Amino acid sequence: MPGTSNCDADRTTQRQTAGVDAPLTGLREHCGVFGIYAPGEDVARLTYFGLYALQHRGQESAGIATGDGERLHVHTRMGLVAQVFTEPDLAGLHGHAAIGHTRYSTTGSSRVENAQPLIVESDLGPLALGHNGNLVNAPALRDELAAGGVSPAGTTDSEILGLLCAGAEGADWTARLRATLPRLKGAFCLVLLAPDGLFAVRDPLGIRPLCLGRLDGGGWVVASESCALDTIGATFIRDVEPGELLQIDARGVHTERLPLASEDAAQAPRRAACSFEHIYFARPDSIVDGQLVYAVRERMGEILAREAPADADMVIAVPDASVPAAIGYAAASGIPFREGLVKNRYIGRTFIQPVQGQRSGDVALKLNPLPEVLAGKRVVVVDDSIVRGTTTPQVVARLRRAGAREVHMRISSPPMRWPCYLGVDTAPIEQLIASRMTVPEICQHIDADSLGYLSLDGLIEAIGLPSDTLCNACFHGHYPVQVQPEQDKLALER
Ligand code: SF4
Repeated sequence: MPGTSNCDADRTTQRQTAGVDAPLTGLREHCGVFGIYAPGEDVARLTYFGLYALQHRGQESAGIATGDGERLHVHTRMGLVAQVFTEPDLAGLHGHAAIGHTRYSTTGSSRVENAQPLIVESDLGPLALGHNGNLVNAPALRDELAAGGVSPAGTTDSEILGLLCAGAEGADWTARLRATLPRLKGAFCLVLLAPDGLFAVRDPLGIRPLCLGRLDGGGWVVASESCALDTIGATFIRDVEPGELLQIDARGVHTERLPLASEDAAQAPRRAACSFEHIYFARPDSIVDGQLVYAVRERMGEILAREAPADADMVIAVPDASVPAAIGYAAASGIPFREGLVKNRYIGRTFIQPVQGQRSGDVALKLNPLPEVLAGKRVVVVDDSIVRGTTTPQVVARLRRAGAREVHMRISSPPMRWPCYLGVDTAPIEQLIASRMTVPEICQHIDADSLGYLSLDGLIEAIGLPSDTLCNACFHGHYPVQVQPEQDKLALER
């Protein structure tokens, strides 16, 4: 069967060794950014709801900064958006422009000093900054700052970027951004706020998404994903182009293109949008680089059914991100789609871990099978990825305990063999199961009856964009910029 591995052998052994008390692991979202310029509107409240829509992109901390023409006001705290802000907090955030941020730490540990928007001071006044992505040359830039006697207060690449900007040559922020941005390498979608204007930047490769929208009253909005525009009633205008710098102020929207960092300019691809935004990170109701994410995921499922068919009674999803792909698989295969796993939607980040050896494991906190649906059935289970291979065996084990007769795992992305250094917390290469096991070995490890992955060609076909405009480095290891494998998330803390 093309794209599929069968693994009846050793099920008993694997069932005994599948770790039910392993931590619930997988890909971690990165960050969400939001910006608004809308005189006369309650920009802090609109930003709050924009961040609410971007909560899936970061759950460690959140913050809003507003500008009133003369001063910046900022509120950041650890926790979910709903925990970080109260009515009095929002009432204290005056102004006609704002930026907001939801954080998952990809550089610098998860602590309040690293929460964003962060503020840097300069002779031009304060600048607030929110960043989604990862700078691969952050240590070199930090050393350069240190040589000039500048020490960051926190441990993020975002603060280094802000300090570089604050110390750059130029009579205004636009000139300083022009001087600073071409020196950055890696992924950086930015929202920046001075007391009298808003800036938004997407890196020259367009690795992370950013879009522009408009409010009925004439205000302008930028956000990581279009779902945030929908939430506040703004109309999606377009994606921000890779390498585009937007300046939004009382005169309207001014746009210009950034040059690539000089040594990359010769061979760098024109674009390298992250494929995992389509596979997992982005909300299905978002439009990313012109593609509705829900429709892309459905196509992934359809192509997966073609590449890795199964003889089964039903198709179920590991909720939520995999539901559209499972629906696509069901439609293309003619096998009915059912709900076989119910997700606890209120679990969020769990600080209290199950006790060592707890029988049900972490997955039990999040997913509960429906025995009435599953008993005696041959089940195709669609999931978006297998990262470390610690969660999937728990899912398979729970389905079997609920009575599933056969479990056929289908993954709507290719095997993830390489880590991400561009703003996604994956896992070190030695922990990525597909970098050390073949597909049949993974099939045995997870104790499935068969395992099939979407091919890279199938993924590209589903996304519907030319392959040379996408980053697929975690599948083939060809990164769109030179990465520093030794640079982990705490590199700036050592
Ligand atoms: S390496 Fe993978 S997760 Fe990272 S930007 Fe590229 S496709 Fe996205």
